[in-house]
Amino acid sequence: MERRDIARYPFVKAAREAIQEWGVTPEEIASEVLYAGVRRRGVERLKCAIEGVEIPPAPLRREEEIMAELLSYVYSRMIVSAIAEPYLLQWHAHAESDLTYRYLMADSTKEGERPSRWRVVVEVAEELNLEISVNEESFVANLGRPQEVWMHFTSFLRHSTRLSGKEWRLINREVKRGWVRLRWEEFLRLLREGARERYSSTLTAILTPKIVDVMEDDIREVEALARERRERYKPKPLKVVELECFPPCMKRILAMIQGGENPPHHARFALTTFLHSLGMGEEEIVRTFSSTPDFDESMARYQVRHILGITSGTEYSTPECSTMKSYNICYDPDALCNKEWMKHPLTYYRVKCKNLGKTKEG
Ligand code: SF4
Repeated sequence: MERRDIARYPFVKAAREAIQEWGVTPEEIASEVLYAGVRRRGVERLKCAIEGVEIPPAPLRREEEIMAELLSYVYSRMIVSAIAEPYLLQWHAHAESDLTYRYLMADSTKEGERPSRWRVVVEVAEELNLEISVNEESFVANLGRPQEVWMHFTSFLRHSTRLSGKEWRLINREVKRGWVRLRWEEFLRLLREGARERYSSTLTAILTPKIVDVMEDDIREVEALARERRERYKPKPLKVVELECFPPCMKRILAMIQGGENPPHHARFALTTFLHSLGMGEEEIVRTFSSTPDFDESMARYQVRHILGITSGTEYSTPECSTMKSYNICYDPDALCNKEWMKHPLTYYRVKCKNLGKTKEG
């Protein structure tokens, strides 16, 4: 890795070592005039995450630029830690993993005389604990990198569950002695998922009240923006009686969304059709998805309109339980789900409402 890579891939060991070497403390980052630019960039990273736009890459030619960029990442993490809202952590993880992905793409590409830096990409994968084996025989001269990578199935399963599409199901992959063959582009997609997991699972050390006090203005600014985004798309609360009757799978998908997670594609599809069957319209369904870190209103609206048949002419129906199971989204089945005759989430809903003495047809 080159020196600049510690700022491009801030989760690597060398980045942690560099911060220790510099001896800069969280208190100094938060308070010293010297780090005003670092704080501005840290807040900018979070603004991009909240607005759902790309974090622009920073120039990383000189040591001061590398240091400022890495510390700005640390500062944005400090703000996320101080606010401690799961949805903000997920938005942040989504935007940062997207930036990482763009760097990985650039490093995988040969440009004129500049060779591809694919070995750096492999190092990043190792830092993210992805078990891989690179087939150098698949090296393609004009791409300047191997064409394929083999990934251990445990790493593959850990990071492919959120991805939609049949190609991400192990049953549809070529597997040899526990290793899954991936095209380079697929490998990068899984790396992005690995980075997202890393960004959303590790937080900075607990901040002292004194540091939080110094950061107050930035915390307020970020909190206000996050609140604004949530208000803008606030879903109408579902009536208690309806929620009580929801099958466990739909409850879990809703909980993922409300907790700021990105549910898998099939889960979004199932929830959209389910809510529509209960009488919810385009607007309410789009708003339901607004807490997801990757929320893009126009894209969400396009997909919802397609599923509702507004643009496609086909009104899709809620998948049966057997289909939900085959997509691994039959979450937390309970005793009612285990009845032999239980075949459909809407059947669950009707029966549950009836059992509760509050019949509520969809
Ligand atoms: S059995 Fe059907 S209703 Fe129950 S959790 Fe699974 S998919 Fe949902």
